[in-house]
Amino acid sequence: MIIDIISKILGILAIVCLVLRLIIYPILCLIIRHANTETQKCKKCKGTMIDRASHLYLIPVMFDDKYEESAEYYINNFQRIEDISQIPNGRRACYLYLFQCQNCGHKNISIVGFLKVRDKEILKGGDIYEYEKFREFLEG
Ligand SMILES: [Zn+2]
Repeated sequence: MIIDIISKILGILAIVCLVLRLIIYPILCLIIRHANTETQKCKKCKGTMIDRASHLYLIPVMFDDKYEESAEYYINNFQRIEDISQIPNGRRACYLYLFQCQNCGHKNISIVGFLKVRDKEILKGGDIYEYEKFREFLEG
């Protein structure tokens, strides 16, 4: 009798888990993806920001060592490389993405820091900066 009830409860739990896995999880993924694209709206006109260019740089930082994450730091320390195979073991690297608004042409810079571990890129944070701060660096 008790075993019957327990097995019924377990059965219901299994169904609930399945429902969560099949329905809630995809919805959560959609919400997260939506939130990500939301951050790529132009802050001046809310137009869509599109990826215009990307570059890869080394920074003089090893593993999880702390450093000052600022535009000035990046500009003074960035060392351009062509692809991730050029990253020495344990060295931190950053992608720099140039985004531009489709509507008004407003630009910004997104820096994504990572550590390469056995050919995987482990995200180590990043931020968005005014294009003006990088103008000389990128155009000069
Ligand atoms: Zn815009």
